[in-house]
Amino acid sequence: MDLHINNRFSQLLPADVNEANTRRQVQEACFSWVRPQKTAAPKMLHTSISAAKCIGLSQEDLNSQEFLQIFTGNEVFTNSRPYAMCYGGHQFGHWAGQLGDGRAINLAEVEHQGQSWALQLKGAGPTPYSRSADGLAVLRSSIREYICSEAMHYLGVPSTRALSLATTGDEVLRDMMYDGNAAYEKGAVVCRMSPSFIRFGNFEIFAARQDKERLQQLLDFTIKQHYPHLGAPSQEVYLAFFQEVADRTMEMILAWQRVGFVHGVMNTDNFSILGLSIDYGPYGWLEGYDNNWTPNTTDRRNRRYRFGNQANISLWNLVQLANALVLLINDDKALEAILLNYQKTYPEKEFQMMLEKLGLQTALDGDTQLVIDLDKNLHRTETDMTIFYRLLANLKRENSQEAFNDQEDDWKVCAPAFYNINALQGNILKEWQDWFLRYKTRLQKETRTDKERKASMNLVNPKYVFRNYMAQLAIDAADKGDNRLLEEFMQLLAHPYSEQSNKEEWFAKRPEWARHKAGCSMLSCSS
Ligand code: AMP
Ligand code: MG
Repeated sequence: MDLHINNRFSQLLPADVNEANTRRQVQEACFSWVRPQKTAAPKMLHTSISAAKCIGLSQEDLNSQEFLQIFTGNEVFTNSRPYAMCYGGHQFGHWAGQLGDGRAINLAEVEHQGQSWALQLKGAGPTPYSRSADGLAVLRSSIREYICSEAMHYLGVPSTRALSLATTGDEVLRDMMYDGNAAYEKGAVVCRMSPSFIRFGNFEIFAARQDKERLQQLLDFTIKQHYPHLGAPSQEVYLAFFQEVADRTMEMILAWQRVGFVHGVMNTDNFSILGLSIDYGPYGWLEGYDNNWTPNTTDRRNRRYRFGNQANISLWNLVQLANALVLLINDDKALEAILLNYQKTYPEKEFQMMLEKLGLQTALDGDTQLVIDLDKNLHRTETDMTIFYRLLANLKRENSQEAFNDQEDDWKVCAPAFYNINALQGNILKEWQDWFLRYKTRLQKETRTDKERKASMNLVNPKYVFRNYMAQLAIDAADKGDNRLLEEFMQLLAHPYSEQSNKEEWFAKRPEWARHKAGCSMLSCSS
């Protein structure tokens, strides 16, 4: 394996002077040196060749013994020293103090074709930040993280990547639903890749400790390494940096909303300073369209991180970041202005995104209401979001012969999206008929042909997403040693916007068996 290791984070930022791997509060340091734990019988289940190419690795490299040993933590690169990062975070709205990489270990930062990538093992053993936990990860959560990272990348959602997924041969004890039924599960390790794993929480921890010196070191480092186009760090550049973090965060949230992704744990320690989706835990995809939905059972009561609240929470998280940076930025009014602008701009951008989903080129009178009423209708009866938008692109402007004879039947173009077609009666049916009539009337004002509109809608409305029950099917099979679904989903989800004629079975509503099944609709943070 020929990797160009540069290790900027660990070479340029202060290390923990204590080199023992004991759990503790780590002061005045950005990270602690730590070695991964050896595993009993590591086995590579899958590798992402597309991620590998980003760092200059070939299929042959991925198949090598050296790769297996290093990317399960049994060996380390001879010219790189692994480390765990120190960060804090607001969890579910409350300051939680020091968190840190409790089970993530950075192997190295490598450079390829002018781009830096941090390579990080998740589940490779305890670190000083493991608190009372074991530093390990189980197969089910690792499969979910591995596939989802790559699926998000292919959906065009800013995301960290995943390079490899391996089982360790070790058994890991987990109480999956936190109900006193702990059981042993297969241990696993995922290697994640990102230009940086720095989170909002890396800044917050220093601010909380009033450690201005380290805060500034980290901020200047982040700007120089990851926002170099902003220029040399200065008061103005700090503000420009915060503005760009906000912009990138907004783009990420808009992408989540567009594809119906619910992160599930939007704590500030799970928010990347690069605006990338990170930490795939109890996430899920909307199947029945519902602004109130969250897959995370830990958040069942307050639904803080529900689909319809993700934009608000992203702003809340940016406020926390601003509260940390204000120690170095003397202009709190300017920070506030950026936050207020976020609040003002988000709905405008969201509306633009909705127009694209509907295939409308520019906003005309009545479009705002059309979007509002669509949201209302999608809630009236259980409706699959992905299928609805994908099929909506098939609506024809004119009532041609192949199209439905009766305009009142236009909604049937989306019929497979409705869980209970019989629910479309009375008022609900009337509302849908009315909406389709207005949409079709609106389409008459479009300059594009039906075909052109459909092509553009299909670029923003995916055909295939990583449905929650699909994850569970892949997990159940892999748990029995059958990795065919894992392989199939990695291939399928590499082309989420393409028609894949022999894969129609994954363009289907959630089956009934998955409705209340743990892992499909209910997920805990246990992983
Ligand atoms: P999460 O909710 O997965 O983002 O994790 C929150 C914090 O708990 C992070 O600091 C993680 O590193 C840590 N953590 C989660 N699971 C474990 C584990 N099994 N062992 C050690 N630390 C963990
Ligand atoms: Mg996390």
